[in-house]
Formats: sequence, structure tokens, C-alpha cells
Amino acid sequence: MQASGRLHLGNLVGALSNWVKLQDRYDCYYFVADWHALTTGYADPSAINESTRDLLVNFLAAGLDPEKCTIFIQSKVLEHAELHLLLSMITPLGWLERVPTYKEKQQELKDKDLSTYGFLGYPLLQTADIIIYRAKYVPVGIDQVPHLEISREIARRFNNLYKEIFPEPEALLTEFPKVVGTDGRKMSKSYDNAIYLSDTPEEVEHKIKTMVTDPARVKKSDAGNPELSPVYQLHKVFSSKEELEQVAIGCRTAGIGCIECKKILIRNVFKVMEPIWAKRNELLNDPKILNEIAQRGTDKARKVAEETMRLVRKAIGLY
Ligand code: SF4
Repeated sequence: MQASGRLHLGNLVGALSNWVKLQDRYDCYYFVADWHALTTGYADPSAINESTRDLLVNFLAAGLDPEKCTIFIQSKVLEHAELHLLLSMITPLGWLERVPTYKEKQQELKDKDLSTYGFLGYPLLQTADIIIYRAKYVPVGIDQVPHLEISREIARRFNNLYKEIFPEPEALLTEFPKVVGTDGRKMSKSYDNAIYLSDTPEEVEHKIKTMVTDPARVKKSDAGNPELSPVYQLHKVFSSKEELEQVAIGCRTAGIGCIECKKILIRNVFKVMEPIWAKRNELLNDPKILNEIAQRGTDKARKVAEETMRLVRKAIGLY
């Protein structure tokens, strides 16, 4: 996960909760991609360290257990950079240029100069991140499958040129509910509509209380359509089936007011966030523990990465 800002409920539901489940079934490696944050944020890297810390805290607060999985920081395992360099020797430029997000993101972030090698080489660094652990699977959403395809191609090219070292990583597809932001669009930090894991209870309450609702419900006696209300979309993710039904009927029959409806949502969002807040406080009050966990995970990851690089250097003839 890239160290470029705070995590929000969409990230929690879309990725982190799934990672927590996977740690019981696989030998998982999860890391904070601080180098990746530089590919678009190189001109102002001042927030990267803070983001790295915040991500680590959130990984743990959301339930990643350092006894079950390996949690580390990308830039502390220099072997990723070495493999990135070696892979750059064998990767045709055209492969990188045709990655769909390359041009899309350049368009999207017009205020930034992204005509750099680092930005073009992003998928290559990502490939190094994956295959250095000789990973079999990468947990991704369906929209990220094309990104993984290039990693598979590069691994295949290396294996064909030198020696069969890398498995071609496969997507471990996960279905997750869409989380909308406070304005009804997809929850995203760029839309300024996100509820962050680092928000205080007061902030979360305020954000939900001021959320957009079905515009037809001007007065409490006006019936509404819950499907047009972002509040209801969040109920779908955070509320029980019974409460969801109760809210839907209440909205359609004007039997429930928006204030009451939002109160139920606040209660249910709090249920998810309270253990996260407690763990976050614990970790933020004891930075020593956080450093120790990061150090232990980084040492463990480095051991595996070093072993892979020994094989890689030998396969190329660099020993
Ligand atoms: S009652 Fe709930 S679902 Fe219906 S418009 Fe109000 S906030 Fe939205």
C-alpha cells in the first residue's frame, strides 16, 4: 500500500479487512510502499514519513498480526531496488508505456510533471516488490488485474532469458462492497469525501450527520428512495440485514427521519471503528513497539529478498 496519505473506510473494507483474513491462510507479506509514493510525489516528499507511520499503525489497528504475517517498509529492503534495476535491463519500454494507468494518471495529475522514469517504471518496481518474494498470489481487485499481467510477463521474460526463478504471480481476486463517500461518489481522498481511520469519533459523527441524503426528503413527512441516498449505501456496508430493511422501509414510508437514520449508521460505523481507535491510541502512545514490529518484519522480509537476489545474481552471472 502506497504511503501517500491517510487510510479511509473504503481502504479498510476494500483491502485491509481482506488482508486480515488472508493472513490465516497464506504466508503473507504486507508492506508500506514509501518509494512508490515518490513516483508521483517526488517534488514534495515531506509527508511520506508521517504517512508511512500512519499506514503501519493502521495495518496493525485493523488486525494484521505480526506473528502471522510479515509487515515491513519497502525502502528498508534495498534488494527491491536492485531487482528493479536488473529487471529494467530486460523490460521493453513499450510494455511500460502501454500500462493503461500510465497515460490516464498523467492526465489526471496534470499539475504534476510525470514525464519521469520513476513514474513510467512504477509497474517495474511493483513487479520487483512482488516477485522478490517469489509470490504466487497478489490480493487485488478486478481493476488491478491488468497491472499484474505486466508482472507476469516480466517474470516470464526473466525465467526464459536466464533461469526459472520466479513463479508468475496470479491475482487473488476479492469481491468487496463499494464504499461511497459523504457526497455519494466513490470514497476517495482526492474528492475530500472520506471518513479516515485517524478521524476522531467527533469528526466521524460530524461527517455522517452532514452527509447528503435523498433530496426528495425535504421534510420528515416526505417519503424518500433510500437507493438515492449515500447514507443508505453506507448502511449496506456497515449495518445488519434487519437494520438495513428497517431503514429502507422507514425511508420509503417517511416512518424514519434522516437524523435518526444517520444515528443508526453512526452507531454501526463506531462498532467497526472503536477497536481500531483503541489499538491506534495504544500504538501511537508507544512508538517503541511500532518501531520494533517494523524492524522485525523488515529483517524477516530482507532475509527472503536476499536469498532471491543470490539466485538472481547467479542466474545472470553476476557473482
Ligand atoms: S432516511 Fe436515511 S436513507 Fe432515507 S434519505 Fe434519509 S438518510 Fe437517506
